[in-house]
Amino acid sequence: MLGTASAMTGKYRNNTCILVEVKQDHFIFLDCGEGSLNQLVRLRGEEGAIRVLKNLKAIFISHQHADHHLGSIDILTTREDIFEQNNEPIPPLYLIVTWKYSNFMTSYHKDIQPVLTNLQLLKNEDLLFHTQKDEYWEDICDAERIRLVDENVLDEFQKYAGLSHIETCRALHCRDAFCLTMTAENGFKLTFSGDTRPIARLVEIGKDSDLLIHEGSMEHGLQKDAIIKKHSTFTEAINVGKDMRAKFTLITHFSQRYSKIPLLEEIENEENVGIAFDNLVVNPSNMHQLRLLYPALRLMFSKEYDEMLNKSENLKFYESKDRELDMNPDDDEQEDPKSELIRKLDLQYKQKLENFERIKKWRRAMIDKEKPPSQQEMKRLSNLINKVSPDSGSRSSSPSRKSPARGTSKSPPPSGAAKSTVRRSKSPPQASNIHEKLLKIKSKESPELVKNIIKKRNISPPSPVRLSSSDISDRLLKVAKKEGSQE
Ligand SMILES: [Zn+2]
Repeated sequence: MLGTASAMTGKYRNNTCILVEVKQDHFIFLDCGEGSLNQLVRLRGEEGAIRVLKNLKAIFISHQHADHHLGSIDILTTREDIFEQNNEPIPPLYLIVTWKYSNFMTSYHKDIQPVLTNLQLLKNEDLLFHTQKDEYWEDICDAERIRLVDENVLDEFQKYAGLSHIETCRALHCRDAFCLTMTAENGFKLTFSGDTRPIARLVEIGKDSDLLIHEGSMEHGLQKDAIIKKHSTFTEAINVGKDMRAKFTLITHFSQRYSKIPLLEEIENEENVGIAFDNLVVNPSNMHQLRLLYPALRLMFSKEYDEMLNKSENLKFYESKDRELDMNPDDDEQEDPKSELIRKLDLQYKQKLENFERIKKWRRAMIDKEKPPSQQEMKRLSNLINKVSPDSGSRSSSPSRKSPARGTSKSPPPSGAAKSTVRRSKSPPQASNIHEKLLKIKSKESPELVKNIIKKRNISPPSPVRLSSSDISDRLLKVAKKEGSQE
């Protein structure tokens, strides 16, 4: 753990950065807050840092808040410098980032300093499976677990990084924030929350993780602040770990109010939970021993710990007062401002979801309308067209056909007597054929009607409104009847 603080870098905690050694000499960074490179050198020494950078396979950036990505440029440029100084070819490095961050990097590359030359880009959005339902994803593929990423590129990356699976889900934080889960070739599953409120879809993708690294920015007494700032409390992080049956949950991303040590009341009795601090190194065999450090940590920082406890007690007192106020809305006193803000945010969020739901419904309706007619419908349509103009497919339209004299048309009568003359198409006609045929009909009868059909069938030019094939059949029948009666 190279950085375990939220928001600001402090003396004891750096901004978020996690270095994962997937297998020997296969490294991945999960977020890179400012100063991550310095932290790496502090932890591994200069030689160790060079080794990590030379064997770095990927950098994952969960979202575009500065405390999660400002250190990435330093990492990228230093890595390239190391190879260039030794005249060695620069191996690829995968950037797993949001589209927003990739835009930012492109601008940086163009206008400030070239950093993208030896990078491969994987977008967090493309690693999502489509079946996820959330406020942003226009979920139109319920049936299949598909995603946008090119499977060949993904395979190549996974082999390169020593992974057997990688997947993202959207976090509930700012827009374009992501959580990640990845499984190493040896089967070890690691899930990283990034910044988020507790969410069910993270539980889903992180099911049975060996290690969950979840943000816990503050104590549960500050839950209102956590909701407003879209972060999680310690208790909420622990519960996410339990819900996904994670073998171990490591809490990180502490507010600077816990710069030396977080309050341990919610954490210390949980067997499979640990707290992170800068330069902590965990592996599958030692993470369960983290709890043994708590008494020593509490003693080392006893002064700060007592101060935090006092603050926490005061907080609980005022919270209980606020709750009383909230429960008695008839009182003249005003609603607690935080509760009021949460209520407004909640309302705003619900309205946003409703709007997205409306958009999804509208899109679905549009897609349903856009469905091409079935084979059967096309055949029926084709027959009807042929009934109206049986020879239209074999003749080219000539100027003389544009306004034929009534009664001289070669169209067969629409009655049963004409059945033997109806030419049946072996396969459903293509849009261009239909267009051609309809144009020919247009030249004979009801130009306005056929013009409308062409327009509404969206053959040319495209139009969002379409008639169903049965509507078209009815209209064509009318044309045919009219023509027959005129003959
Ligand atoms: Zn954030």
